Amino acid sequence: MYKIMTPGPTQVRENVRMARSRECTNPDLDPAFYEYYKETCELISELLFTRNEAFILDGEGILGLEAACASLTEQGDKVLVVDNGIYGKGFADFVTMYGGQVTYYTAPYTKAIDLDEFEKYLENNHDFKYATLVHCDTPSGVLNPVEEMSRMLHRYGIMTIVDSVSGMFGEPIHVDEGQIDILCGGSQKALSAPPGLTFVTVSEKAMKTMEKRKTPIASFYANILVFKDYYKNQWFPYTMPISDIYGLRTALENVKAEQNSMWDRHAKMGEMTRTAVQEMGLELYLENGYSNTVTVIKVPEGMKASDILETMKKDYHIMIAGSFDVLTGQVIRIGHMGENANEDDVKETLEALKHTLEKLRS
Ligand SMILES: *Cc1c(COP(=O)(O)O)cnc(C)c1O
Repeated sequence: MYKIMTPGPTQVRENVRMARSRECTNPDLDPAFYEYYKETCELISELLFTRNEAFILDGEGILGLEAACASLTEQGDKVLVVDNGIYGKGFADFVTMYGGQVTYYTAPYTKAIDLDEFEKYLENNHDFKYATLVHCDTPSGVLNPVEEMSRMLHRYGIMTIVDSVSGMFGEPIHVDEGQIDILCGGSQKALSAPPGLTFVTVSEKAMKTMEKRKTPIASFYANILVFKDYYKNQWFPYTMPISDIYGLRTALENVKAEQNSMWDRHAKMGEMTRTAVQEMGLELYLENGYSNTVTVIKVPEGMKASDILETMKKDYHIMIAGSFDVLTGQVIRIGHMGENANEDDVKETLEALKHTLEKLRS
């Protein structure tokens, strides 16, 4: 077994694993499960600082992103896709798939979105139904000021979909203050439940927009609207993965028990990692906008990412990650989010990385 220090999936605490082994009822037919699901959704809303309703969908983070786009997009809708990272750009696929017309706001991948420049752009370009934003773009580790951006977009009546899959619970996110219409999260990042679930919080405006569509949502599984009256009707659109939801609930309760010191813990681990890797002579990929959930490091000259990752696994039993798409082979990533973000594991990982580099240099 490896020590998992990847930016998702992350380590899973024992109480979450145990919760998943609890005896199951029939989640379609047992009213007690409807209560449990509703309370779990309410806990999600509470932890994300919103009065908006939350829904848990049966699929990984990607399903949340697709469902948000599928549910809001009608043929020909104009959508602003903020692209300063791989997930940022990737939103365009879901928008076009459901008939939307994409306009990119493209900015360097090595920096957080500059709010002044973004505001200037919006002054002249604001004919959009909604915009897609990414909080922490995990392949590069950049953290965008999505609350401020979302508020700016709202001044022009533009709704927002925010992917905070790898940001939330490791970095502050306030849905209501940020006026975020649909916020997407996943089970397997800072929340530290196993992969398998996504959840979305949905504003009244977004919900009304879905209800008033001229054309039906072109999906069943990636359709947020089918969840709307589940409680009133005691009817889920499909059978809920009850054991996954037991695990998710316990992971959410772990976050609640830690309150806001969760953010301090992540800030400390992020800072410690960035300082240590630079002391080893390594270079960070980013110029600014470091997320405290993941550190992204340039592969040193003359070395191969795959050799670093293999040595870390083989000699130290620690799994860190490379990256993908345009960053393939260029960077390595340490995921210090959720359960991974503890001093012992982070120190052990940094020590192992130091020795790995020495071995590969000699
Ligand atoms: C992990 C992640 C997702 C979800 O991806 P999965 O393949 O479903 O795990 C979405 N957005 C971001 C920014 C992520 O880090």
